[in-house]
Amino acid sequence: MKTNLINDFLQTPEGIEADKILRSCVHCGFCNATCPTYQLLGDELDGPRGRIYLIKQALEGKTPSRQTQLHLDRCLTCRNCESTCPSGVRYSQLLNIGRSVINQKVSRSLYQKTLHLTLRKLFLSRILFTLLLKTGQTLKPTLPAFLKSSIPEKQNKLHYIKRLHDRKILLISGCVQPDLKPNIDTAAKIIFDRLDIECIEPPETRCCGALSHHLNAEQEALTIIRSNIDNWWPLIKNDQIEAICMTASGCGVAIKEYSQLLASDKDYAHKAQIISDLYRDPIEIISTGNYADKKTAIEQLIKGRSTSETDKTIAFHPPCTMQHGMQIKNLVEPVLDHFGYSLLPFKDKHLCCGSAGTYSITQKEISQQLLSNKLKNIEQNDPDIIVTANIGCHLHLQSGTDTPVKHWLELLI
Ligand code: SF4
Ligand code: SF4
Repeated sequence: MKTNLINDFLQTPEGIEADKILRSCVHCGFCNATCPTYQLLGDELDGPRGRIYLIKQALEGKTPSRQTQLHLDRCLTCRNCESTCPSGVRYSQLLNIGRSVINQKVSRSLYQKTLHLTLRKLFLSRILFTLLLKTGQTLKPTLPAFLKSSIPEKQNKLHYIKRLHDRKILLISGCVQPDLKPNIDTAAKIIFDRLDIECIEPPETRCCGALSHHLNAEQEALTIIRSNIDNWWPLIKNDQIEAICMTASGCGVAIKEYSQLLASDKDYAHKAQIISDLYRDPIEIISTGNYADKKTAIEQLIKGRSTSETDKTIAFHPPCTMQHGMQIKNLVEPVLDHFGYSLLPFKDKHLCCGSAGTYSITQKEISQQLLSNKLKNIEQNDPDIIVTANIGCHLHLQSGTDTPVKHWLELLI
């Protein structure tokens, strides 16, 4: 695609990057075929090709409108279009640049500003979030149905005794998951311990930065990311850690992007690159390596398991951050299969469930439609358990069904 970006912008790192990405797009439109918002809304401007065009126009000097901003807001950042694009267009990186430029030129309504600020304050404050969650869980029986479905049940905490091992990974907890589903990280610790891997936990990490980033508070996101790097660095620099890991794929993909977000920060670029390179999803730690290692790892896991649920039928929903963001495909399913679970297929597995961080709150209508489509497809075969790999998808799916939803790690213990 030919471009003619504003000269001053073209001299910046973002301008150079955006120009390169725009020029790689041949405008074929293949990406529209797998875009959930294009499928639902049927408007070219609510698909990747149209959004790329809107960003191009804004970067070339055309004044963007609230409508332009809305078309970009409706994007789930699911990155399905990147999986489909034959030209390797790095759409999400272009979207980050485009959103940042457009948000500086188009002011948001008071309602949107208040909503974004409230979400950031709520999810970034551990005390406030814990207090509200506990109150909600206590009052749950008395609440109306639509509120009940969005408050998860309190989990009976799993027991775990830490042992020391030569192999070590840095296991980072997220912002809301430790309160909502504490057993997911505990399951990871039990599983890694069974593989003779010790989980080192850094001082409390409130957020990976994705929340502020997605709510257009870029400077806040960068401050959080730099503070995380400072926190983790003493544990990384002595080379004892073989990987950094999180059990929520949405946070994992954010850490993989630290190097990109801090590429032009002379104080942090090097450290950010090392951290992004060290990041591994739990399934990559379990199932990468040669076949002999992988087989041994799975056999070792199966030997130590205590679960009695392996006769259940399950449907695995791979989060977009896993299948499109990190391009991790078909790694979890064979492990669950080895454990004896019967995996049920379902239609449109590649499509987003509508969770997408805070999208389920900021774009409720589209999000609910995607959730309903996803659950209709999944439940066609009536699975005993729905399984996923990201806390956002986990809670979103559970809010629309009585079928239990679990993280795949919880099925291996
Ligand atoms: S992003 Fe890729 S698939 Fe979409 S129009 Fe551009 S080149 Fe074609
Ligand atoms: S990221 Fe997802 S919603 Fe956004 S344009 Fe690409 S496919 Fe569509």
